[in-house]
Amino acid sequence: MKYIYGPLNSRRLGLSLGITLVPHKTCSFDCVYCQLGKTREKTKERKEYIAIEEILNELRLWLQNNSPEAKKINYITLSGSGEPTLNIKIGQLITEIKRLTSLPVAVITNSSLLADSAIRREIGNADLIVPSLDAVTGDCFEKVDRPHSQIKIEDIIEGLVNLRKEFRGKIWLEVMLARGLNDDLRHIKRLKAVIDRVNPDKIHLNSPVRVTSEENISCVDNKKLNKIKEILGDKCQII
Ligand code: SF4
Repeated sequence: MKYIYGPLNSRRLGLSLGITLVPHKTCSFDCVYCQLGKTREKTKERKEYIAIEEILNELRLWLQNNSPEAKKINYITLSGSGEPTLNIKIGQLITEIKRLTSLPVAVITNSSLLADSAIRREIGNADLIVPSLDAVTGDCFEKVDRPHSQIKIEDIIEGLVNLRKEFRGKIWLEVMLARGLNDDLRHIKRLKAVIDRVNPDKIHLNSPVRVTSEENISCVDNKKLNKIKEILGDKCQII
């Protein structure tokens, strides 16, 4: 299989069958904590990077050959080795997956393109969206996510607020914190004000523990993470 991986067990999603929609590290960000290495070419260009017909052929085959295992899967997850919303056919892919199987579909996104109402509509057929929000100031955003030059944090925030208004499924917001970059409590309080506007169903707080794109990235210690969890409120859990 080239585009389907797993199923993998994760604390976030349970048992999830992953689908990649773009070639390795095709991304609008170059996050310092990325486990996939550096983004060679940051892009916000949308196109059919991987033909969805090929993805669907693989998925059909996988479901045919793994029917006992398929029954245990919690989500078919559109994610993989880059930003899945860069694939311009993501909406069509979700529709076709739903014709093939009743398994719920999750989209994991870095939120970079959510300012575009057409993209919010395209992923609106999913059951769960897991968007990231690591920063709410331009300074922190640049330091942690190192976005494409045309992507602004203010637009991402408005995109997330609008996603909440329009999307009928669940939204689990992921926040990745790196020590000394975006874990300052003044920044966390501003983050909390934005998260209150977005009003996700859950907040997943995370800090990098594996190998990251940049060598000198450290995780936030447990004591501080717990303090931040308290600030972010009841919906927040440390993952
Ligand atoms: S958005 Fe995801 S794939 Fe892209 S650089 Fe960040 S962590 Fe890596």
